[in-house]
Amino acid sequence: MSDQVENAHGLRLGVDLGGTKIAGIVLDGDAGVRAERRIDTPEGGYLATIEAIVDLVNALEAEVGTAGLPLGVGTPGSVLASTGRLRNANSQCLNGKPLGADLSTALSRDVRLANDADCLALSEARDGAGAAFDNVFGVILGTGVGGGVVINNQLITGRNGLAGEWGHTCLPWPTSAETRQPPRCWCGLDSCLEAWLSGPGMSADHVRRGGYNIPAQDIVERAEAGERLAGATLKVWLQRVARSMAMIVNILDPEVIVVGGGLSQIRWLYSEVPKIWAEHAFAESIDTPLVAAQHGDASGVRGAARLWPLP
Ligand SMILES: [Zn+2]
Repeated sequence: MSDQVENAHGLRLGVDLGGTKIAGIVLDGDAGVRAERRIDTPEGGYLATIEAIVDLVNALEAEVGTAGLPLGVGTPGSVLASTGRLRNANSQCLNGKPLGADLSTALSRDVRLANDADCLALSEARDGAGAAFDNVFGVILGTGVGGGVVINNQLITGRNGLAGEWGHTCLPWPTSAETRQPPRCWCGLDSCLEAWLSGPGMSADHVRRGGYNIPAQDIVERAEAGERLAGATLKVWLQRVARSMAMIVNILDPEVIVVGGGLSQIRWLYSEVPKIWAEHAFAESIDTPLVAAQHGDASGVRGAARLWPLP
């Protein structure tokens, strides 16, 4: 550990390592933002990523005039508890790398790591859309798909570091067509939720229906404009989300499900999924609130800062 400086304001530093951007934040106490920056994720691989994070941390600490702050980092994938190495990251230059240990050495302090969905869940449970609830399931629907569990304001990681790993479970209650042609996930398994529900997953499904290979956002816009094929792709995507969330309700029965990631902006999620998810849950009706992340894109980095308790 470095010489920890006096930190009377309870400053904590968070970094959210994404596939295209790296966000950094300094939180003051439990709410206020003292500094924030966002940089492009370098394309030069693992070592360039370490250097970029070190530069970002140094710049943020210079801005607030305090060094050696507690640092939490949100990453894709998860950390293998036995080795401290990353796995299951869709930014594959990170897989197998001891990111936490390397950052700890480079920045002379302990560093806490959690996956991006865990960070989102923690952020939203503490002071976001899940703040009024004791049992929060946070999901990311974006380029990737993931989940995180926060109970009584504490992030649940699990014995194998896999708690909430929703994105790499199999699409439940598949139709015969879905069983015949399951998409292959980058992780090596077939029919993962990430392969069905991510933005690229929705695009691939649109192509399978005979549509153009366009981003999920464009499919949603075309559906809203009345284009029939795009509407069909969106409708089936919503049904798959509903099935996948019914599985969560059956296992965890959270008091709220908070959605982040780029696809969380699809307003149909909140109006349509609650109408159909009870068809698959072990109950006649479900009244679980399904809501968008209050802090939007910033939830990941805010949650990363909260991986440490207040100093
Ligand atoms: Zn997978």
